[in-house]
Amino acid sequence: MLGLMQNRQLLVSSIIDFADKNYGDVEIVSKTDSNQVHRYSYSEATYRIKKLINALKNIGLKKGDKVATLAWNDHRHFELYYAISSMGAILHTINPRLFEEQIIYISNHAEDSILFFDQSFANLVNNISKKLVSVKKYVIMKSEKSDLNIKLDNIISYENFIDHKVKDLDWPNFKEEEACSLCYTSGTTGNPKGVLYSHKSTLLHAWATSMPDTLCISASSVVMPVVPMFHANAWGLVYAAPMTGAKLVLPGSDLDGESIYKIINDEKVTISAGVPTVWLMLLNYMDQNRGSIMSVKNLVIGGSAAPKSMIKEFSDKYNVTVLHAWGMTEMSPLGTVCRLLPKHNDLSIASKFDLKAKQGRAIFGVEMKITDDSGVEMPRDGKSFGNLKVKGPWVAEAYYKEPKKILDEEGWFNTGDVATIDPDGFMQITDRSKDVIKSGGEWISSIDLENIAIGHEKILEACVIGIPDTKWDERPLLLIVQDKKSELTKKEVLDFFVGKVAKWWIPDDVIFLEELPHTATGKLLKSKLRDEFKNHKIV
Ligand code: AMP
Repeated sequence: MLGLMQNRQLLVSSIIDFADKNYGDVEIVSKTDSNQVHRYSYSEATYRIKKLINALKNIGLKKGDKVATLAWNDHRHFELYYAISSMGAILHTINPRLFEEQIIYISNHAEDSILFFDQSFANLVNNISKKLVSVKKYVIMKSEKSDLNIKLDNIISYENFIDHKVKDLDWPNFKEEEACSLCYTSGTTGNPKGVLYSHKSTLLHAWATSMPDTLCISASSVVMPVVPMFHANAWGLVYAAPMTGAKLVLPGSDLDGESIYKIINDEKVTISAGVPTVWLMLLNYMDQNRGSIMSVKNLVIGGSAAPKSMIKEFSDKYNVTVLHAWGMTEMSPLGTVCRLLPKHNDLSIASKFDLKAKQGRAIFGVEMKITDDSGVEMPRDGKSFGNLKVKGPWVAEAYYKEPKKILDEEGWFNTGDVATIDPDGFMQITDRSKDVIKSGGEWISSIDLENIAIGHEKILEACVIGIPDTKWDERPLLLIVQDKKSELTKKEVLDFFVGKVAKWWIPDDVIFLEELPHTATGKLLKSKLRDEFKNHKIV
């Protein structure tokens, strides 16, 4: 027997409509591409979103059409998030840090019909526009008065584009399973793959993200996603903030320590989220300038492992609780958050930090297990490593335009991460499956070794890769960037591992580099280093 409840569809438009009607005067503050601070309210944003929808309809944009953005986190990008999805079209956020060839590939693959871009990407757009075969219109995200300074046919400034006569509309209704946004991930091998989110998955994810034991976002929060809106929907925060009535702060393109420090203090940010690199820059800035961030209660760190030393420094020096989180583009992205349980109150401080450095427990909606290579589930004992698999209503089941499902027969998605899960459900990533080091038939966690190295006060960044070894199959090689003022020796670095891991885990050699290569989403580019150092001989 079916229930007798209203079958209202969960649509992205309902979030902004709710914010307009219930938190209409709450602010969205953003740093624009021209480095100015822009402020307005959810109601003012809604008014412009409706104008934007009318403008898009006016040029013939239809349901299911794709609209691309190359933009930083600001109010215009926010408007695009809501306008494109609310009218039934699909928002395609492109990561501008990708190589030009990759951007061309994904835009053509997605069949984008319009491209909105920030002024700072004008050169990039100039370089690639001839190869973007489906794009018919370009919109530069500037105000009407500024001169366009770009040679493209069919281009208009954002403010001219949305200056539309019809300023109101009824939100269109359609099925919640329809697509609302598209984001390509380059985490997998081969060409980037498109993850196509639905209205329903986006809403449920934002809802779960806001819950008290997830990120605890409410009308008293001031939320600042430092994670870009082109990376997995800014981890859902641009949806969670209007859904809960939180003030939203969008930091633009300046993500250096000083800029982030200033905007946190100016706007009294209470919760922010980003990758470890950003928080390292903030810590360095505060250290050099005796700064503090008194308004901040929680910093969410994800995308790469948050080193324990970083979690500890935020807590000890700045009274900020780090929430270590894990997820991936295919998961909208949030899967786990690390929060201690009441039963951990009496743990020693050191044990608490050990636990906080784990990636945490599944949030409601996400099921998780680890298996061996033949698919047999492994024990939740906190020690056994296995392939991490997930299920849930905001986990992808296939990639865009690829008919083959990416799930096994039981509906599990293999994340490509290797992890342990302890009896309380705390998950800890030990590696990407392709990065794990196989030595003498046993696995060595490169992330564990990197975290230890980063804990050394003179080491700024560390990467551990497996290099071929005739006897052991693979052995760990440590590559580090050290503080400019220090002159560490190999012995000093390797001695630092003694007593912290089993002897056979200690890297065989250390290489000192000026910098380490990163991917477009800020992760270490281990494949490049593996290639470069595959013939490295230990001396
Ligand atoms: P992306 O789809 O670009 O967000 O990348 C997802 C991948 O980033 C995951 O599969 C993990 O390998 C890695 N990742 C994300 N968060 C963490 C974390 N907290 N610790 C370690 N690795 C992480």
